[in-house]
Amino acid sequence: MLKSKQVSLLVSDVHLCEERPAQVDRFIGVLEGPAREADSVFILGDLFEYWVGDDDCSASLPQRVMASLKVLSDSGCKTYFTCGNRDFLIGKAFADQAGLICLDDPCLIDIQGTPTILMHGDLLCTDDSAYLAFRQQVRHPQWQAQFLAQPLALRHQMARGATVESGKAKQTKSEEIMDVTETAVAAVFQKFKVNRLIHGHTHRPGHHQHLVDAQLRDRWVLPDWYGPGGYIRVTPNHIEEILFSA
Ligand code: MN
Repeated sequence: MLKSKQVSLLVSDVHLCEERPAQVDRFIGVLEGPAREADSVFILGDLFEYWVGDDDCSASLPQRVMASLKVLSDSGCKTYFTCGNRDFLIGKAFADQAGLICLDDPCLIDIQGTPTILMHGDLLCTDDSAYLAFRQQVRHPQWQAQFLAQPLALRHQMARGATVESGKAKQTKSEEIMDVTETAVAAVFQKFKVNRLIHGHTHRPGHHQHLVDAQLRDRWVLPDWYGPGGYIRVTPNHIEEILFSA
């Protein structure tokens, strides 16, 4: 049996859409390049700018992404996915066709020997109560069933409208409420009782340390791909953030 490659890649907030073909190419480049050296890849949400339902998979962008992910998982790389606030409607049909293993948000998983909490990150932004109320509404199965029952064209229109609204809302919200709160971060570390958390969503890549119950804990934030993008690479002895240059 081949020895495992002992490399994991983590990525989030790629925000794939037809309007940004360079990002699409760069993401496919990661799947066909660095990801082939990894034994696991974790996609932590907002892979797509928006997602209106798995019945929309036939468009060229999802087809291309799905095919590339499937080649990767067929090659033996375990590919994991948790959805974000943009693509929370990604379901089993897309995951199956792309060969993705779905994870809960948050979840605890061993990454190259280190127990690690994975999240999209929106749940950590607890100062943004308006968003959290919206999140609770749209994650409800009944809301989702009603939305998915709408004609595809209408769903696209609604999603594009929501994207514009969320952009406007972000401009008026203060920098602080768009970031994680210390309280939420501490609560997650206390719940899972481990020392490493990796998430995206805030578009503030970096490495932070938090003292929780007299224990120093590491929080790594993934970059978004509205800019050049990047990912986190984990081996048994090392973790590093790889940021592309423009
Ligand atoms: Mn997000």
